[in-house]
Amino acid sequence: MEIHNITEDIVLRTVNDIFDAAEKEASADKPCTCFQCRLDTACYVLNRTSPRYVVSSRGVARAESETIERQQAEADVISLAYEGMQRIAKSKRPHFDHDSSLREKPAAEGPWFNIPTIIGRVFNGGNFEPMSEIEVSLLRGSSTAEMIDANWQNPYRLVANTAGTFSFWPKPEAAGGVGETRKFDFAVVARAPGFEELRHFFEIPVASEAVAALSFSMQRTFKLPDLYLFPPGEEEDD
Ligand SMILES: [Zn+2]
Repeated sequence: MEIHNITEDIVLRTVNDIFDAAEKEASADKPCTCFQCRLDTACYVLNRTSPRYVVSSRGVARAESETIERQQAEADVISLAYEGMQRIAKSKRPHFDHDSSLREKPAAEGPWFNIPTIIGRVFNGGNFEPMSEIEVSLLRGSSTAEMIDANWQNPYRLVANTAGTFSFWPKPEAAGGVGETRKFDFAVVARAPGFEELRHFFEIPVASEAVAALSFSMQRTFKLPDLYLFPPGEEEDD
């Protein structure tokens, strides 16, 4: 049984639609539509909306049914998403390049395993506040996972205004043929002074594709469960 937040689905979908539409605009002052600005906007909206939880196996289809209440909620999400997009555009992250055209195209021919963007959040397990100013790393096996380009940091530094959200986009890996499936083993490691080190292990099954995916898509994301850091437990006596 898994608990699922429907608001999150609606917010991610709405933010992505609005940014996709903005990306096609010809106007000179259109906002930045890079992945990080999309994610920052999604956080902006999520911090201003109420979560709606369902048990994922049964609730999703039922909750998706149209109701007046839901239409109102979606309208609120849309106006918050526009507001968020404008604010984020005015306060771009200084360390981030915002330019995906700098992305290096893989030189070799495909096929490729396009590993999805990995998104998660880290909280203080003592007070449930999002963590900030700490480093989160992504390991592939026992070594630091290589990112798709220099815009993507690993380790990732959590900043204060993004609700404990971190993201990684691992580099595509060469595959033998199209339609091959492979499981990729990863671990997220979070360290903070005064807390026990957290290691979250997971695997992502990926089917190979003919071309490398080089532009970000919300459909190609892998969402981790929320992670919690705790102070070291009492030492047990021998
Ligand atoms: Zn941007």
